[in-house]
Amino acid sequence: MGTFDMVKWTREYDAKMARREAREARWPGLPFDFGGDLRHHTTMGGYPLLYLTRKDEVLCPECADAALRTVELAEHEALTDPDEGPSEWELDAVPTISGANYETPYDCYECSATIEAAYDSDEETTYG
Ligand SMILES: [Zn+2]
Repeated sequence: MGTFDMVKWTREYDAKMARREAREARWPGLPFDFGGDLRHHTTMGGYPLLYLTRKDEVLCPECADAALRTVELAEHEALTDPDEGPSEWELDAVPTISGANYETPYDCYECSATIEAAYDSDEETTYG
C-alpha cells in the first residue's frame, strides 16, 4: 500500500486547475473537464458531445482537443519567434462550439470515429 502524498497531490491538483483555467480563458465556451481536457460527455445527463469547427466540420472530442493543442503549441512558439504561430488552416480546424449529440451518429471529420448518439434514431421513443 502506498501512502498518500499530500504535497504531490496538491501540486498535481494545482497544475490541473491552472491548465483548466488557462484553457477556459483561451477557448471560451468550450467545455473542459477537471484536468483541462475537452469533455467527452455533457455534465448534465452524460450525453455524448460532438464539436464543430467554424467550417461546420464535426469533430470527436479527441480530435477537437488535438486541434486545440496544435494551436496552443504554435501560439507558445510565437512567444519567442514571431514567425511562428498558428496557420489559418490550423485555426480552421479548432472547434468553436460543442453540443450534445442526441439522435444522429456522426463520423468525425478527422479520424472517422463514430460519435454515438444518446438515443438510437431507429428506435421509436415514446415520451410521457
Ligand atoms: Zn476524431
